[in-house]
Amino acid sequence: MQKEHLFKVLVIGDLGVGKTSIIKRYVHQIFSQHYRATIGVDFALKVLTWDNRTVIRLQLWDIAGQERYGNMTRVYYREAVGALLVFDVTRTSTFQAVLKWKADLDGKVSLANGKPVPVVLLANKSDQSREGLSSQLPKLDAFCKEHGFVGWFETSAKENTNINAAVRCLVQNILANE
Ligand code: GDP
Ligand code: MG
Repeated sequence: MQKEHLFKVLVIGDLGVGKTSIIKRYVHQIFSQHYRATIGVDFALKVLTWDNRTVIRLQLWDIAGQERYGNMTRVYYREAVGALLVFDVTRTSTFQAVLKWKADLDGKVSLANGKPVPVVLLANKSDQSREGLSSQLPKLDAFCKEHGFVGWFETSAKENTNINAAVRCLVQNILANE
């Protein structure tokens, strides 16, 4: 018998880090330099045939403009079972904001059993030069362990690098909580 799951996954992080681009790349296989920061919440659906017994409907929630305030309402976080937290390797300030986003998330949503929702950290725009962050990347394994991220990936929405791998890692961790 086939089992079908519906998972609400949030894509969070500072303005301009590439959240919308990652979703568009992952769901629609497209990339553009120009996504308008539409106000509101937007989501895209991706159906994954995980294995021959499991179908996953992944709802990817984009925050579309509200991220400039640095935190989101509980309504947005409600019933999420996982998150991708994105920073931009060309802008150090977006990495410095990562823990603030993690705290906002953990303060507003948790799993039914009280555990924090799994979060994968994405170092996006890896096709660009890394500015001040090249010395940080080798330390991200330790950073993730210390701050409770389930993993991290260097991604590029532009070149379609590691986005599938990052989502697979997240889904694996979500399934482990089922
Ligand atoms: P959001 O505000 O987090 O949703 O960021 P967007 O998806 O709107 O992306 C902001 C800008 O960064 C846009 O001009 C994108 O084209 C660009 N961008 C996003 N991802 C990448 C990437 O992986 N590589 C490069 N070079 N540019 C990217
Ligand atoms: Mg956006």
